[in-house]
Amino acid sequence: MAPTASVAPVRDTRQRRAIRLAFEEAERPLSTEQLHAVASRESRGLGLATVYRSIKSLVDEGWLEVIDIPGHGAFYERAGKEHHHHFACENCSEVTDLDGCSSEVRVRLPRGYRARGHDVTIFGTCSRCAEKRRPPTRRGR
Ligand SMILES: [Zn+2]
Ligand SMILES: [Zn+2]
Repeated sequence: MAPTASVAPVRDTRQRRAIRLAFEEAERPLSTEQLHAVASRESRGLGLATVYRSIKSLVDEGWLEVIDIPGHGAFYERAGKEHHHHFACENCSEVTDLDGCSSEVRVRLPRGYRARGHDVTIFGTCSRCAEKRRPPTRRGR
């Protein structure tokens, strides 16, 4: 082993593979915590710190992209997807890709401004959460 690289490599490729696999299987954006929950099923004992490090290196490599979901923080998804938007469930924090674009939303830019893109997040309740519409139960500790 010759640690010559200036950037500390993520040593365990098995863990990185588990993380890539988690994204491929989930087919939706994942937060660090959600990724950790999915990936630790594949790779036992996978620590949150390793997940953080792996995400960072996958972002640096351009394999993952960071998306900011207002009120839910940073999520990550495969880079290079076509233009799309997201749905965020306010109940379980699941973020889903949406088809179609709300390009009919027209805004007037100030004179001399140039838009490069837009970002739309739709909020609401996912189908699973809508189904279990039970009255809130008090969870004792
Ligand atoms: Zn939900
Ligand atoms: Zn759009």
